[in-house]
Amino acid sequence: MAVTEQQKVGTLVRISGPMIEADGMHGVTMGEILRVGKLGLMGEVIRIEGEKVYAQVFESTEGMFLGEEVVATGVPLSVELGPGLLGATFDGIQRPLITLQQSSGDFIGRGLTAVALDRTRKWQFTPTVKAGDAVQGGDIIGTVPETKAIEHKILVPPGVKGVIATIAAAGEYVVEDVIATLQDGAPLKLYHKSPVKQPRPVHKVLPPTEPFLTRQRVLDMLFPIAKGGSAIVPGGFGAGKTVVEQSMSKYSNAQIIVYVGCGERGNEMAEVLTEFPELIDPNTGDSLMNRTILVVNTSNMPVAARDASVYTGITLAEYYRDQGYDVALMADSTSRWAEALREISSRLEEMPGEEGYPTYLSERIAAFYERCGNVITIGSHTSTDTPRKGSLTAVGAVSPPGGDFSEPVTQTSMRVSGALWALDAALAYRRHYPSLNWNKSYSLYFDGLKGWFDENAPQGWIMRRQQAATLLQRETELQDIVQLVGPDALQDQERLILEVARMIREIFLQQSAFSENDAACQLPKTFGLLEMILVYKEECERAIHREIALNRITAVPLREDIARMKEEPNDGFTEKKDAMLEKIKQVLGGLEAK
Ligand code: ADP
Ligand code: MG
Repeated sequence: MAVTEQQKVGTLVRISGPMIEADGMHGVTMGEILRVGKLGLMGEVIRIEGEKVYAQVFESTEGMFLGEEVVATGVPLSVELGPGLLGATFDGIQRPLITLQQSSGDFIGRGLTAVALDRTRKWQFTPTVKAGDAVQGGDIIGTVPETKAIEHKILVPPGVKGVIATIAAAGEYVVEDVIATLQDGAPLKLYHKSPVKQPRPVHKVLPPTEPFLTRQRVLDMLFPIAKGGSAIVPGGFGAGKTVVEQSMSKYSNAQIIVYVGCGERGNEMAEVLTEFPELIDPNTGDSLMNRTILVVNTSNMPVAARDASVYTGITLAEYYRDQGYDVALMADSTSRWAEALREISSRLEEMPGEEGYPTYLSERIAAFYERCGNVITIGSHTSTDTPRKGSLTAVGAVSPPGGDFSEPVTQTSMRVSGALWALDAALAYRRHYPSLNWNKSYSLYFDGLKGWFDENAPQGWIMRRQQAATLLQRETELQDIVQLVGPDALQDQERLILEVARMIREIFLQQSAFSENDAACQLPKTFGLLEMILVYKEECERAIHREIALNRITAVPLREDIARMKEEPNDGFTEKKDAMLEKIKQVLGGLEAK
C-alpha cells in the first residue's frame, strides 16, 4: 500500500542544536529529506527507531518549537546537475549564494528554497542523437556550450535506458524544457537530479598513469599525484593549507575545479570569490571562475551543512568526470567535516570512538576518497568514437589540533589517500613555503607515473628527482653529525652537500604563491631550476677533485645567479637555463689550483 502524505507528517519532540527528533513518522527512510517546522528547514534522516526519527538539520534550529510539524519529502539529499554550475557559488545544500543574497540580503533567511540552476537562462543546445537511437545512462544526447572553454555534455541519467522517441532540434532551451522523450514516455531535460550520498556509477576504473600537475615544484617533482588520485594536506593553523588548495585551483592541469570551503573562516572564501573571476586560466584564456564551482560552508553556518557540502561537492565533481573531464576537488578543511560528524554523533548519544569521533568516521572518510578515480564512464558510447575517460582527483586539507598528526582524522585520511603532503609549522615559521616537510611527505603514485614523466617531462627528470631526494636525505644525516661533533668533522665533499641541499631548499623547494613569475611553475622550469643546482654541484665536485679549496669554489658568485633564475617567467626559461649551465661549467671549470 502506498504511504499517504498524512502518515508522513510527524511532530517535533526534541531539538538539540543541529539535531532534531520527530515522532509519529511512518514509512520514512534513512537519508530522506524532511521539512522541519513552520520554516520548513531542511533536515536529513540519520536514525530511525520505530515511529521516531532523528534528523540533522542543515539550517539553524534556533527559535523552533516542540510540537511543530515535520514533513517527509520522500527524496534523499540531491543536487541538480546541468548547465549553469560552472562559475556558481553554492551553499552546502546547493542553494546558489549569489541569488539568495540578492533576495534576502547578506544573511540567508532560513527555510529559503532556491533552485540551484537558473530556470530562465537560455542555453544553446545541439542534439547528438536522433529518434530511434537506443540510449542508456551516461550517453550523451546533446551538447551545450556552457563556457567559452567547456562544452557541457547533456547526459542520460544513470539507470535510465530506452529508445529516443523525440529529440529537440538545435536551438535555445531553458533547463526545464523537455529536450527528449524516450519511447516509454520518460522526459529528458537539460538537467537531472542525483542523490549525493551514493557515488555516481562508472564503467571501469583505470590505473592512474597521468600526473595531476599542481605547478608547485615540490609536489610535481618529489611528491606527484595522479589524475584520479588523492592527497591529503595536513597542517596546523597558518601552515599554508589554504594557499596550497587555492594555488592548485588556479594553476593545476585539471579542467574543472570544485572547491569546497568547509567550516573555515568566511574571509578566506571571500578572497576566492573576488580573486578567481579576475584570474585568467592559462589553458583556455577564459576567466578562472568559468572552470570553477564553489561550495561554501563557512564556520558561521550550521555544522550539519558541512556534511552536506562535502557530498554536494564530490557529486558535482563526478558529474563533470562523467562528461569526460579531468576534475579536481579541493576540500578545505575535511577536519571541520569530521568535527560536524562528531557533534551530530554526540547529540545522538552514540558510543564514541577515538577522541569522541564516531566509530564510523574512518568509513565515511574512506568512502569519500574512494569516489576519486581515473575511469571509463558509463554509457554505450554510441555518440562518441572512443570510450569516454574522465578523472576525479581530490586534495583534502586536514587541520589537526596543535599540528599533531597522530590524531584520528589525519591518521584515517592517510590510510585511504595515496599521498601525504605534510605541512610543517617549523618550516612555515621560517617562511619556507610551501611548508611541505620533505622527510614526512610521500606519494604512492610515482611508480605509476614514471612512464609519463619519461615520455613527457624534460629529459633526465627521474634521475634528477632521485638525486635531489638523496641530497635532502644526506643533509639530514649530516646535520645530525654536525649537531653531535660540530662542523669541523666534515670533509669538503660533505660541506658541499650541505651547501647544495640548502640551495635545493631555498631555490627549488621554496615557491612563493604571491610571486608573479613563480607562483605557477611549469615542468621545464621545475626541471631547469633543479638541473642548474645539480650541475653546479657536479662542477664543484670536479673542482674539489682538482684540489681547489671549497671556500674558493663557493666564493664564486654563481649561487646568487641561480637563485635569481627563480623569478624568470616560464616562457623561454629553458634557453636561459641552458645559458646558465654553460656559465656554471665555464666559471667553475676555469678555476685552477693555486
Ligand atoms: P592555513 O590554511 O594552513 O591555516 P594559510 O594557507 O592561510 O594557512 O597560510 C597562512 C599564510 O602563510 C598565508 O596567508 C601566507 O602569508 C603564508 N603562505 C602560505 N603558503 C605560502 C606560499 N606558498 N607562498 C607564500 N606565502 C605562503
Ligand atoms: Mg586555511
